[in-house]
Amino acid sequence: MKDRTYTADAAPGDHATVAGWVHEIRDLGGIAFLIVRDTTGKIQVKLEKDEMDEELVETGLDVSRESVIKVVGDVKEEPRAPTGVEVVPESIEVIAAAETQLPLDPSGKVDAELPTRLNNRTLDLRRDEAKAIFEIRAEVLRAVREAFRDFHATEINTPKIVATGTEGGTELFPITYFGEEAFMNQSPQLFKQLMVGSGLERVFEIGPIFRAEEHNTPRHLNEATSIDFESAFFDHTEAMDVCEAVVKAAYEAVEENCEGQLEALDLADEFEAPSGEFPRLTYEEAIQRINATGELDEQLVWGDDLPTEGEHALGQDVGEHYFITDWPSEIKPFYIKDHDDDETLSTGFDMMHPRMELVSGGQREHRYQRLIEGFEQQGLDPDAFDYYTKMFKYGMPPHAGWGLGAERLVMTMLDLDNIREAVLFPRDRQRLSP
Ligand code: ATP
Ligand code: MG
Repeated sequence: MKDRTYTADAAPGDHATVAGWVHEIRDLGGIAFLIVRDTTGKIQVKLEKDEMDEELVETGLDVSRESVIKVVGDVKEEPRAPTGVEVVPESIEVIAAAETQLPLDPSGKVDAELPTRLNNRTLDLRRDEAKAIFEIRAEVLRAVREAFRDFHATEINTPKIVATGTEGGTELFPITYFGEEAFMNQSPQLFKQLMVGSGLERVFEIGPIFRAEEHNTPRHLNEATSIDFESAFFDHTEAMDVCEAVVKAAYEAVEENCEGQLEALDLADEFEAPSGEFPRLTYEEAIQRINATGELDEQLVWGDDLPTEGEHALGQDVGEHYFITDWPSEIKPFYIKDHDDDETLSTGFDMMHPRMELVSGGQREHRYQRLIEGFEQQGLDPDAFDYYTKMFKYGMPPHAGWGLGAERLVMTMLDLDNIREAVLFPRDRQRLSP
């Protein structure tokens, strides 16, 4: 619509065409108001029953809420209008009428449960709060891309249909690929590693990962978006530096550019980008601190994975983003390198928000022989990963990287209760459509 003016741009004195959804109809007797909403906001359209064309007034009064209309008229100053201006219409056209029974109330006056909202995402995203989450998510991804470019990383896209998974078959979705078994990829791990040995050296990818995890939790999806980074000639500490900078850049961009969205989410006052350095705790310190909180029934010992309640207790104790480093080698994946001076210690790290894990990373095993042994110890057939391991014979530099869940980043940043709030169309145990 070439001559369309966004409601936010309509200024007194304009002769304007506004188009959008009927948010509200207020009939006060001799006068009535239509509130028209578009992506930028809302504007009042005035209907004076005795003074305006009868047909025009009738069209305006008969239209159902959430119908799409086009209004042409003069924009006038009106201090009593919600935005200080109103449109005095010459014409009102109903472009797409909405049924009067809606599955969801987009004005937000009637609350809806999450499943109802997800089943009707289109209507749900007419609400400012829901829309704000996805505008912020877009800003996060924009800022993350820019931060990676500042680090001279090249954006890549790796295949999502693969012959073999990263860490074996347990969490993979199988598919049929021209009569052969294939899988949806659970991580770009192996492919991004292959790129550090290419001429690109330093890469990032923002793309889907597929996890056939059976559990149904507020922080797991079966299709998630992973923000991945990998760099040649990096050790785990350098990878952590980039991780911290990228997460901070996302927060800072939202703080700077998403004021209206934060207001819509009622977060404007409390939102704060992390400023100090993220503390780096070793795994040993982490289990000691968890044990000291007394929150767990049983004390953690060396080699235990951190249970969810332990992560919560530690998160409360630390109170900000932090890293856990120096994990026992046996509980980190085989492709993560051990410390050169102590092979019981892994260079793997996790970056945590007080509420949950956001990132896993580490320095990778780049020595061919060690890598093959790792596959065997894991019970995986190295031959199945030949496309990957082979490249380690032709000059693979030391390298490190990490993966960050985009939805978990948005979820924790905006204090959302459920990760599904941060995905347009979530995939989980119960949900394959829409
Ligand atoms: P968790 O232990 O919390 O299930 P993970 O250790 O299995 O996570 P990784 O394989 O380390 O996850 O993936 C790196 C990051 O990707 C995680 O820290 C998380 O932010 C994100 N991620 C992984 N799996 C999921 C999932 N099922 N849903 C949403 N995000 C995920
Ligand atoms: Mg992890």
